[in-house]
Amino acid sequence: FNTARFGQHILKNPQTCQRIVDAANLKPTDRVMEVGPGTGNLTIKILEKSKSVTAIEMDPRMAAEVIKRVQGTPEQKKLAVVIGDFVKADIPYFDVCISNTPYQISSPLVFRLLSHRPLFRVAILMFQREFALRLVARPGTALWSRLSANVQLYAKVDNIINVSRNDFRPPPQVESSVIRLVPIDPPPPVKFEEFDGMNRIIFSRPNKTVRGNFQAKGVMKMLEQNRSTWLSVQNKVVNDDRSINKIVDDVLAELGHSDSRGSKMDVDDLLNLLAAFHEVGIHFS
Ligand code: SAM
Repeated sequence: FNTARFGQHILKNPQTCQRIVDAANLKPTDRVMEVGPGTGNLTIKILEKSKSVTAIEMDPRMAAEVIKRVQGTPEQKKLAVVIGDFVKADIPYFDVCISNTPYQISSPLVFRLLSHRPLFRVAILMFQREFALRLVARPGTALWSRLSANVQLYAKVDNIINVSRNDFRPPPQVESSVIRLVPIDPPPPVKFEEFDGMNRIIFSRPNKTVRGNFQAKGVMKMLEQNRSTWLSVQNKVVNDDRSINKIVDDVLAELGHSDSRGSKMDVDDLLNLLAAFHEVGIHFS
């Protein structure tokens, strides 16, 4: 039984399972998506409180186990199990997502959820503690990072339950935390690749000045290329004879961010800076 391959650590503490499901505040009309149901310890508690569950499980043996568990019960027809890799699977309609999946897919899980439409109401997700703390970190604290900014652009995130490794069988190497993620509705009208592209630069060395990071090797060249592509696509004539260096510097100075540091900039600072760059035709993707 290869537990390493699928990251199978089953959540055995029933109180912890109940707390996770309760945190979703499920309504009887809710359709829930669960990623990686395993043997179904969360699934059966979710089924009690919701209209239906679509569970996406990569391991066929686990899928069989969770199906068997509800067989012959009234819950049986409320459960659909899709066998497949969540990272590649079609996402069903859902109001709420509850998931305790292996930590290898933490990042794709979060970003697939955030880009999914229509927006869901809430997601309750278990992650490795360090990853969870980076998701919820605030600007000016040690764990504030590109990941924090990219996620908090689209969602309000809170750390709600710390879970001990001893709640799992077998116990994983690491501690875990459950977070609540509520999408911001409507989402800010910004292209993720642009926001992330700028953050790659600013957070490449989060404690260095923004200006310093823009001066790093290759950055100006990339911005120059993006700009000429953008100008040709827009069919625009340039009557700006400043160098790309100067254009960037002027934007940073104008917004007072030349000497800012990514480690202290909040999502609004980053959004304002991105808008100012777009204004002068500077793009990041
Ligand atoms: N949710 C169960 C629980 O709390 O006890 C099981 C947790 S176990 C950490 C993770 C589950 O996700 C396993 O059943 C594993 O087979 C499944 N899984 C692993 N990778 C997956 C993927 N890419 N897509 C869907 N399920 C996956």
